Amino acid sequence: MVITHNLGFPRIGAKRELKFALESYWKGESSRDALRAVGAELRARHWQDQAGLDLIPVGDFAFYDQVLDMSFTLGHLPERVRGVKDDVLDTYFRVARGRSAPAADAQAGCTSGVAAGEMTKWFDTNYHYIVPEFTAATDFALDASRLLEQLAEARSQGLNAKPVIIGPVTYLALGKSKDGSDRLALLDRLLPVYSELLNQLAAQGVQWVQIDEPILVTELDERWRHAFEIAYHAFKTAPVKLLLTTYFGDLQDQGYLAAHLPVAGLHLDMVRGRNDLAPLLNLLPSTKILSLGVIDGRNVWKTDLNAVLDWLEPVRDQLGERLWIAPSCSLLHVPVDLDSEQRLDPEVRPWLAFARQKLDELQVLARALNQGRESVRAELDANRAAIDSRRQSARVNDPAIKAALSRIDAQMGQRQSPYAERALKQAERLRLPRFPTTTIGSFPQTPEIRRARQQFRSGAIDEAGYVGFMRGEIARCVREQERLGLDVLVHGEAERNDMVEYFGEQLTGFTFTEFGWVQSYGSRCVKPPILFGDVHRPKPMTVDWITYAQSLTERPMKGMLTGPVTMLNWSFVRDDQPRSVSCRQLALAIREEVLDLERAGVRVIQIDEPALREGLPLRRSQWKGYLDWAIECFRIAANGVSDETQIHTHMCYSEFNDIMASIADLDADVITIETSRSDMELLAAFEHFQYPNAIGPGVYDVHSPNIPSEAQMVELIRKAAERIPPERLWVNPDCGLKTRQWNEVIPALTNMVAAAKTLRAGL
Ligand code: GLN
Ligand code: ZN
Repeated sequence: MVITHNLGFPRIGAKRELKFALESYWKGESSRDALRAVGAELRARHWQDQAGLDLIPVGDFAFYDQVLDMSFTLGHLPERVRGVKDDVLDTYFRVARGRSAPAADAQAGCTSGVAAGEMTKWFDTNYHYIVPEFTAATDFALDASRLLEQLAEARSQGLNAKPVIIGPVTYLALGKSKDGSDRLALLDRLLPVYSELLNQLAAQGVQWVQIDEPILVTELDERWRHAFEIAYHAFKTAPVKLLLTTYFGDLQDQGYLAAHLPVAGLHLDMVRGRNDLAPLLNLLPSTKILSLGVIDGRNVWKTDLNAVLDWLEPVRDQLGERLWIAPSCSLLHVPVDLDSEQRLDPEVRPWLAFARQKLDELQVLARALNQGRESVRAELDANRAAIDSRRQSARVNDPAIKAALSRIDAQMGQRQSPYAERALKQAERLRLPRFPTTTIGSFPQTPEIRRARQQFRSGAIDEAGYVGFMRGEIARCVREQERLGLDVLVHGEAERNDMVEYFGEQLTGFTFTEFGWVQSYGSRCVKPPILFGDVHRPKPMTVDWITYAQSLTERPMKGMLTGPVTMLNWSFVRDDQPRSVSCRQLALAIREEVLDLERAGVRVIQIDEPALREGLPLRRSQWKGYLDWAIECFRIAANGVSDETQIHTHMCYSEFNDIMASIADLDADVITIETSRSDMELLAAFEHFQYPNAIGPGVYDVHSPNIPSEAQMVELIRKAAERIPPERLWVNPDCGLKTRQWNEVIPALTNMVAAAKTLRAGL
């Protein structure tokens, strides 16, 4: 019999119950017991959802982050909370959030300023974990209580539980050394703690433990590979069976290593790592279980079950009892339940599967493998019908859009003249002072603005009423900016709920869910749009708003768009064509908007690409392939304009060292980035590269309610001017101001404009 299991289930809840419980607890509005009760209820419900599987994950639940849970299990807390006498859950939140960090004060992509524990992306997902902090003195001490409690809980519900833990090598690899010491040197101290954990689990009668080592799908040098040998030989005598679990990619030349570690089973991602299968089938010792992740845990599409069976049946014939099947990775990265959706596009709905539906698919596959396809004929036929309808839909494949792609040529991404020539023409036209000031786009999203958008959506106000309200907001925003004395103005983005959704709603090929939330970090969730079909722009998207805003002022008004790469990277995207193809379609749509704005007299256009870096593949060897098409897409979107039109772009970070050439290749006239917290040091990359175009290094940290002083900002720009010629420097905040309040923004921008004036006066 083929065994079914799951690697992890989304814990936030179909209606984001965990989010609301956490935030209410953090605000002091509910008790710790109430929060713990919500946790237990969600675990029980999610286990029930998985009850049809042979093995069910336990330990995948976390109140904030599974990596932080692992740190607590290993008794590894950062120095700064040691000795704090607090309830363990409160200590846990303190590590995650710091004492006073506001719960929900970050924009997608600008998360780094919120939590006290440093956060970083979990591999190439949009999930962020709390980075373990190591020093030469780090030691570990097992605290298995959380895992054992959850195990007992699952057992009491009659479940066949499989504890899930992060493996020691991945754990060390995910962490950071705080003192420059070698974190691999900690392996010797770490392994006995893991062994003890495995013993304690065995003592509870656990048979299988899922030990996640996704680091195996990244490039590892000899020392890290060797660490795998050391670690897993140390566990050889552990009284449990280990399922060494990899996901998010393929093992490539690490296949041999993975196949021969002394563990009882190996899990592989068959969505991204299908190439591994044939070699692994030859390499794998005949005593080992092979678990195949056959259902995409990273995307929302229904699996083509018949196609999977076509290649899986021969594997079953070869492996027999040794074959297990599962989703490719934890389902943490997909929404919980398609059945929650009441208003989904009826054509698209049958093409989708969220976490619960994916587990149903898994069971259909298992029955087909165990009892023959005939035993699930109806399910397989229905699945085929859905797959066919998606493939044949005119909204998915539009020949006219495909034809437009084939007309893309090198010329399209090319500005008329090099930057130096353009800069002169733009200076002539825009007549900006030295150290020109601007903002990144959004101004505070007040409760009134949110209400108006909601009322328009629900039909409570009509289009005329809505447009009137928004124009009022734009007028106020323009008036304030003029009063502040900013040089290049923005309309404020009041009409936008979200920088991707706003455009997705106006393009073909996108659809949206009501409850398709995915955890981003802690209580924070995102609801990615679903890019299901060929994309084009039926009509202009921003031209009316921007031309209205421009009509209110003599100063240049910046058109404000989201770039194609960010639209792609923050959506669930098609799996039936390469990402690059979807991205080029987006690029053409944005290009049309850019050209319409230019035709309407808009002199400055910003195209935001905060998610450009996020799309980098896990393996460096694949970076170039991605960057080639990503940069090309930005250039297609931006560079059709005449020399006199100034193109800005914005990114919410400043780690450019390793991608500097690509950033320069964008050839934006001005790039605004986040730098205030790094004290301009990260501008070194631009300096070394001799970055030729203009830069607006953020001088005002928008994640903090602090009002930066004029002197601080002058100081920052002076530092920047040591690295970048002053005539190419702009003065602006780090990011958009939508999460701030007007009473914070006004004084901060007043100081910012004063700082620019001081610099101009050369004081
Ligand atoms: N223009 C957007 C804003 O100001 C940019 C947001 C972002 O970079 N994430 O809100
Ligand atoms: Zn930003």
